[in-house]
Amino acid sequence: MKTRLKTLAIALTGIAIIASCDKKKEEPQKDLKAVATNYDRSGGIVNHNDSKYLKLKSIEIGDCKWTEGFWADKHKMAEETMIPHMGTIFKGDIGFAYDNFKKAAGLMEGGPLGKYWHDGDFYKWMESTMYLYAENGDEKLMDDLDEIIDVIGKAQEDDGYLDTHVQLLGIDRWSNMHYHELYNVGHLYTSASIHYRVTGKTNFLEIAIKNADYLYSVFESRDPELARMGFNPSQIMGLVELYRTTKDKKYLELADIFVTMRGSVPMDQHPTVNPNFLGDHNQMRTPLRKETEAKGHAVLANYLWSGAADLYAETGEDSLITALEKIWDSAVNRKMYLTGAQGQTHHGASQSPAGRTDMVHEAFQDDYLMPNKTAYNETCANISNAMFNYRLLSAKGDSKYADVMELVMYNSALVGISIEGKDYFYSNPLRMLDGGIDYTHATTERRHRVPYIPVFCCPPNLARTIAKSAGWAYSKSTNGIAVNLYGGNQLETTLLDGSKLKLNQKTQYPWDGAVEFTIEECKSTPFEILFRIPEWAAGTTIKINGEDAGISITPKTFAKVERQWKKGDVVSMDIPMDISFVEGDPRIEETRNQVAVKRGPIVYCIESPDLPENTSILDVYISQGTKLTPNHKPDFLGGVTMIDADIMLRTQNEEGMYRKLETPSWKKVKSSFVPYYAWSNRGEAEMTVFMPIVWE
Ligand SMILES: [Zn+2]
Repeated sequence: MKTRLKTLAIALTGIAIIASCDKKKEEPQKDLKAVATNYDRSGGIVNHNDSKYLKLKSIEIGDCKWTEGFWADKHKMAEETMIPHMGTIFKGDIGFAYDNFKKAAGLMEGGPLGKYWHDGDFYKWMESTMYLYAENGDEKLMDDLDEIIDVIGKAQEDDGYLDTHVQLLGIDRWSNMHYHELYNVGHLYTSASIHYRVTGKTNFLEIAIKNADYLYSVFESRDPELARMGFNPSQIMGLVELYRTTKDKKYLELADIFVTMRGSVPMDQHPTVNPNFLGDHNQMRTPLRKETEAKGHAVLANYLWSGAADLYAETGEDSLITALEKIWDSAVNRKMYLTGAQGQTHHGASQSPAGRTDMVHEAFQDDYLMPNKTAYNETCANISNAMFNYRLLSAKGDSKYADVMELVMYNSALVGISIEGKDYFYSNPLRMLDGGIDYTHATTERRHRVPYIPVFCCPPNLARTIAKSAGWAYSKSTNGIAVNLYGGNQLETTLLDGSKLKLNQKTQYPWDGAVEFTIEECKSTPFEILFRIPEWAAGTTIKINGEDAGISITPKTFAKVERQWKKGDVVSMDIPMDISFVEGDPRIEETRNQVAVKRGPIVYCIESPDLPENTSILDVYISQGTKLTPNHKPDFLGGVTMIDADIMLRTQNEEGMYRKLETPSWKKVKSSFVPYYAWSNRGEAEMTVFMPIVWE
């Protein structure tokens, strides 16, 4: 990294001095609030620099930049279209969020509009612009934010409280979890910490600190009456990040309080909880440290687990990480879709021990219960699955967690946004049928992507994920660097021993498995580079300067190359991009005798535009002997590799819920599979990931 973000802000008799070796940041900040601070400006999208219990640590924001290929293209889409367009929505009279702050600040008349959690979603959008700024240095982006931050500051109550809906509606604070007060401020803490990291300005951070101090005063007594308030607990991640920024231990204590309060009180009806949200829905039936299963709302769950993993990073508490590993096994190995998506149903039930049944929504269900058509799979759940896996990757150093991150990013996260960058899915089923669900009454399920969903949490979550994705590409190991994600990029970082590392990665991954790294600057003593060998990548080879690296290469591990590297060294990886049929565990009834097509990390689907007119997706079968041929189309759907194949269309005219089986007749036609993330970009369509296999 050519810049070091580590800055010590010292206020002496009202004069703020910023010490930094970043040229851009050497300028005194004219609007920096002069407060005595010893804040830590270093750190990545999460700041691991002082986290003692991690195997892998984050690189700094801006250390890695996508330069070519898949993620560079997606980042460009986010920078040029998705994030500015989303800003227009949030600041206009469709998205309401900014207006709510103006109203709470007394700058506008009227009551709040939109959902209770809109403040938090607006903070997420703000965060996404900060990552753009960290890479492109466009001061206008931060000038715009300064205006917004000024309004947010005016909206804040004198005692630090901030929640526009509660303030404007005159609702009693902490009277019901559904008002999302903690979710909103959690995103405030994260966003403000990132803002300080990338700008050095404390104007947003001071709002967050004032609010967190107030929050501490409310929750430090661990009042059992407030034990059920931790709904959608982004505040745990936010508080740990605020602790990392300010080094004020009370924020870490508060994060622990919110983890510990879960499951600490009887799950009786209580005025702070809607009856439908009691118990497992909100991960409150069982204390987290004793939980062994993924239960309840999939976003709430992943936010809680991510926050708890952040807490572990600072405390090293065994009982936390042990519980999180058990929960991960349940969530990923028995309740996750092929696309990395989570949350099998919109509405369901959770059966706890002792026969208690809780209603759950947008939630994890039983093991291997994996409906395709009605799968809920909220984009936020999928993204937060990647966030949780990034934290476990950091804690354990095991590449299996990065495999899940990658799976999510290419499939169940990216499917949330159109190729153009303006339309969104909220729920992400694996099959879409004409007449499948009555979408006119659905709150969040849609037949196709739409420009605005009244529940607008997923779009800014996806925006910030794409904007920060380069920060996930590498991690620092004890004596070197780990390659978590492949993609054309430039890395310029400082290893944990303070030495510089500069390298370039060239690749057209995932369309092509050739990846080339060139070392541009490094220390003279030996260090390691850990190359992730994905679970599906048997046969991967690694050459150094044209010679076999002579190391063992095992899928689902990091391949470790430790040597005395020098400028000009070239590492050439060849990751086989074989096309496979994938079947589900036989206990998944919904995929029995069906297969999906996968190539590298990309899950494919078949969609109406690639079928003869008026073909029902339910008539599509595939022979196990079918030849699957990659067909790269650089100018189609933003540049995709399609997979061409002969498919079989079954013709059957019988009707009825159950019918006598007649020998079907078949028609063989040429068709193509499209990446799942790119479906629904060619008009209204039917789609399926899994299709029945014909054993010929
Ligand atoms: Zn969402």
